[in-house]
Amino acid sequence: MTGDWPSQLRRIAAECLFGGVVLAVLIFAGFRLGLGVAATGFICLTALVLLSLRGSLTSSVLLSAAAVAALAYIFSKPIVVDLKAYITRDVALAIAFPLTTLIVTWLVKGVRKRAAALSESEHHWRAIFEQTPTMYFLIDANGTVQSVNGFGAAQLGYAVSELAGQPVMGIFLEADRSLVQDNLTLCAQTPGQSRVWEARKIHKDGAVLWARVNAKFVRWGASEPIFLVSSEDITQRKEAEEAVRRSEAYLQEAQRLGHIGSWAQDLSTGVMTASPEMVRIFGRDPAKDLLNVTLTRESVHPDDQAFTNQVVERGAKSGADFEFEHRIVRPDGTIRHVHSVAHPVFGEGGALVEYTGTVMDVTDHKQSEEALRQAYTDLARVNRITTIGELTASLAHEVNQPIAAAVANANACLRWLAADTPDLEEVRAAAEAIVRNGARAAEIIGRTRRLFEKGAPQREPLEIDDVVRETVLLLGSEASRYAVSIRTFLAAGAPELVADRVQLQQVLMNLILNGIEAMREVEGRREIAIRSQIADDKQIMVSVSDTGVGLPPEQAERLFDTFFTTKPNGTGMGLSISRSIISAHGGKLWAEPNEPRGAVFRFTLPTAAI
Ligand code: ADP
Repeated sequence: MTGDWPSQLRRIAAECLFGGVVLAVLIFAGFRLGLGVAATGFICLTALVLLSLRGSLTSSVLLSAAAVAALAYIFSKPIVVDLKAYITRDVALAIAFPLTTLIVTWLVKGVRKRAAALSESEHHWRAIFEQTPTMYFLIDANGTVQSVNGFGAAQLGYAVSELAGQPVMGIFLEADRSLVQDNLTLCAQTPGQSRVWEARKIHKDGAVLWARVNAKFVRWGASEPIFLVSSEDITQRKEAEEAVRRSEAYLQEAQRLGHIGSWAQDLSTGVMTASPEMVRIFGRDPAKDLLNVTLTRESVHPDDQAFTNQVVERGAKSGADFEFEHRIVRPDGTIRHVHSVAHPVFGEGGALVEYTGTVMDVTDHKQSEEALRQAYTDLARVNRITTIGELTASLAHEVNQPIAAAVANANACLRWLAADTPDLEEVRAAAEAIVRNGARAAEIIGRTRRLFEKGAPQREPLEIDDVVRETVLLLGSEASRYAVSIRTFLAAGAPELVADRVQLQQVLMNLILNGIEAMREVEGRREIAIRSQIADDKQIMVSVSDTGVGLPPEQAERLFDTFFTTKPNGTGMGLSISRSIISAHGGKLWAEPNEPRGAVFRFTLPTAAI
């Protein structure tokens, strides 16, 4: 019972007043109609039970006592006059009436309490169902929606009343209806067992949403069997899954096109996962084969094993990203060049937990690089041969000189021998001069022949100053032909350089001959100065300067383009080949104007072995 005392009393008083009036009317009517005490008593009892459904226990007790008194008074002697006689005559009525009223009232109270509790519980559960973000449907055996929660209807853009009574199939996308039907049929065949499936539903506005449906076919008591269906909106999850699937597909396609495979290795389990392209690069079929760490290591070309192990070990120690190139041997024996990059992944505590990386198949790139290198080597040789062809006259002169000297020496020698008393000392000196001049001629021919030779570039330790001297000797006659003096200032000294002698000679030859040509038409001093020195950054720097016409204005960078020439018979290959030779040696070649006139070409070369 709730409420404060005065208000409860007021309520009891009101109930008693109302009940009293009702009972008085009934008793009076029973009496006037001559129904007798039993019938009137029964009517009063019924009225009391009805009143007790709404009223309190106290008012029921008071009213039943008042009813007994009134019945006794009206149908027997007045109770105050002969109550004792009444009780003696009709004890059963006097006891049974209030007792029945009390029991019925008490029972009714209990039922009312349980009904209230039930209704309250139903109310709570309904509130929960309405608020849960799950769609609930009750569907009869024919597939008609019996009931749906507010959320479920709203999720599809309907009011509850719009869906109730409609065939449930209508809310599913047509393409998924047979799947839904199959699942409902299976549910009906296995009552009590849940089935779960995913299907698309259609919103009232036509939008499609994905649902994870959980259904069960049940029969409660004698009622008709029914499908209990709950479904959860999984559109976002599906969209995310689709986005992941799509990006995975794009990634795989990109990897296939770029010949890039990716991999990850969990260091706690040692398990390696590899992308399909990675499996393909290693010559296996992604649909059938798996790639693991052992297979990957075993695939490294035997000649690259030691180097690869070293790089991996060093990389693991450094804890930083590392990359390297090596060869792999596929199961069919073909060799591929790959570029590997590895990235360490650290866990929360800073411990190394995983490696991820990429492997790129660079074989095609390597092959085209090799082809390009070969083409450049051939081009460089053509350039050398052309240059030497142009130098034929000077070289003939250069060779001629020692030969002429040797002939003169031989004549002198003969003369000394023809004397009556041959001066053997003079004879020896003349013979030695013959040998020297012969050797010089042979040396010039030998050097020239080396420039013609075809062969792979060969690097050897050498001193740049020697190379300069040799080249100057070779071009001495050509320079004097055009009244050009070549001066050398060689200060590079001994630092060792690992380079291709013939190629460096070719660079110097190109620069010196260009200088001579630039001065052909120039009046005044014609001088080529060649300087060598060690630059601040420990690189060798060589400069070839002239006092010629100077660089073509605003075309300083174009000079190095292949086939760029300002000469009527020029090939435009000299500078471009020279630059590629120098950069293949790890250095740089560039041009600047010379002061007060002419041009200066400089190149650098690293002293460390390349
Ligand atoms: P080529 O000598 O066949 O023209 P190069 O590549 O050796 O080809 O030279 C390209 C161009 O650079 C020359 O045509 C010339 O215009 C310019 N050049 C090269 N060396 C000099 C120099 N020492 N002085 C002025 N211009 C030069």
